Parts: sequence; C-alpha cells; structure tokens
Amino acid sequence: MPSLQSLRSLTTFSAMPSLLCPVRTCAAPLTLEGAAWRCPQGHSFDLARSGYANLLQPQDRKSKQPGDPKEAVLARRRYLEAGHGDFLRTALLAAFDGLALPPRPAVLDVGCGEGYFLGHLAQEREIEGTGIDLSAPAVDLAARRWHGLSWFVVNADRALPFASESFDLALSLTARRNPPELHRLLRPAGRLLVTVPGEDDLIELRTAVQGEGLRRDRVGAVLDELAPFFALEARRSLRQGARLDAAPLRDLLASTYRGARSKERGRVEALTVLEVSFHLELLILRKLPPPGGGGLPDPGPGGEVWPSGGVLRYSP
Ligand SMILES: [Zn+2]
Repeated sequence: MPSLQSLRSLTTFSAMPSLLCPVRTCAAPLTLEGAAWRCPQGHSFDLARSGYANLLQPQDRKSKQPGDPKEAVLARRRYLEAGHGDFLRTALLAAFDGLALPPRPAVLDVGCGEGYFLGHLAQEREIEGTGIDLSAPAVDLAARRWHGLSWFVVNADRALPFASESFDLALSLTARRNPPELHRLLRPAGRLLVTVPGEDDLIELRTAVQGEGLRRDRVGAVLDELAPFFALEARRSLRQGARLDAAPLRDLLASTYRGARSKERGRVEALTVLEVSFHLELLILRKLPPPGGGGLPDPGPGGEVWPSGGVLRYSP
C-alpha cells in the first residue's frame, strides 16, 4: 500500500503534464489507476511507496542498477543540506523570476538527482514540478522528501515519456541534455535553463585528486549541441569559494567522482581541508522553431523516432 505521504502527492498528479507509456512501440497515454500508471495496451508501472514510478525499459539500462548508487546520492544530499549549493539555489530563483513564465508553470528537471534544486524551487515558487533521473535511489530520496511533485526514473538520453509541448521550463543542472527531446517537450514560449561547469570549477579538488587540474571551457560545445533547437538568451557566471573540511570534501568527491581509482582514493583520504572554487555558467535558452520547418525530429546518427514523435535514442 502506498504511504499517506505518497497518497497526498497523488492528488497533484491530475494537473501534471501527460505521461506517455515508455514501452518501445507504445507511447499511449498513461493514467493513474490505484497505485499504478497504466496504458490502454495493458502496460503498467507501479508507484513505489515513496510515490515515484520507475519507467525504465530494458533497453534504457546499461547496468542492473543504472545511475548514481545510493552512497553517492546520500553524500550529495548531505553536502547540499549543509548549504554548499545555496549559491546555485539563489541564482536559480533569480533566473526563474526573470523568465516571466505563465502562472504555475510546468517545470521539468532533467537529471534531478535527489531533488534538492527542484524541491526548493517548488517550496519557494508556485510550480508544477516533475523530476526525472536515471538513479532509482536518487528519485526515491527525492519523492520521500519533496511531496506534491512528480518523480520518475527515466533515462534522459532516450525518448522522454511526456506529451509534446508539456513544459514551460526545463532545467539541466550540470546534467544530461537531450536537445531534440527537450525541444519537443517545451511549449513554444518555453525556456531551457542549463548550468555547465566553468573552466576552473573545482580546480583545486581536481588537482588534489587527479594530480592535474585541466581548464576546459565547455560552454561553446554545449551551445553548439543545442544550436539547432535553442537560442541563447542570457548567460551568467556563478562563482563562489568555500573552505571545505574533511566531511564535506568526502561528500563532494563521492557525488562528483564516481569509481575513483585506488590511487585517487588514497589522495582523497589524505585531504583534511581545502579551499575550493565553484564556477558554473548559467545559460538561459529559448526554443527555436522546429529545425527543418517541422515534421519529425532529427534523431541524430543511430537514433530512432518514437511513436509519440519523440526521439527514441539521442546520439550526440
Ligand atoms: Zn503501453
């Protein structure tokens, strides 16, 4: 049986953007019946006790437990709850307020992790929030903490299981981007808000852990990737410095560098305190008319078009 908390969150599902069946050849609308989402073809997806649904299909998984493992997700939550993400949270709120979106906009957070930024946005502004992530432990943690939002386990590189033009704003906060699908899902006046690590983001940490801290500007490549679908409207540099002691350093590393090699792990254990620079580039983009004047989207090399008109597999 779903918990009282999840039942409370169910009451908000009616107003959420319509969900489509993720089964490879289906894409029929899903409706919530009891504690499961069902499509007319008989596919069904149970709600977990915390209120999220896992919509991953066999072809969406590369491993048995895809996405961030539970330890990384918990480390990230501890790190953010200690206030280390406040500079981004504040910047997001300011950016959101500057967008002049319609009342109670539908917001999709792609790669939402354990829900910190979408959850706080929903706490401070009226939104219809939907978070998706590949990691079931992350989405479960998000659904437990942030009620009244919709949470799904989804592979953001594949077809996204929502009807076209469902969202007013999509967020990709240092996360996956799937330009054709984000373009399809946004309403004509919709916006995409992306954060990309700046060239010296965490450079002290990267130097300490990897032995070198390469400066790499990723913004140009990201804008090129998005160019057929989105135009840059605004750009802000977010910088913050912090002195981190051992506990937040471990948490930051656990949520940043997965599967560190043993040599790197040794270096991490040796760290007790470090001055760290945070540098994110925040990009706001508006949706362009469909590339090629409409019709089906270009799925990229090796990609496929989904029955909804979405891109089944995005291959940048
Ligand atoms: Zn179906």
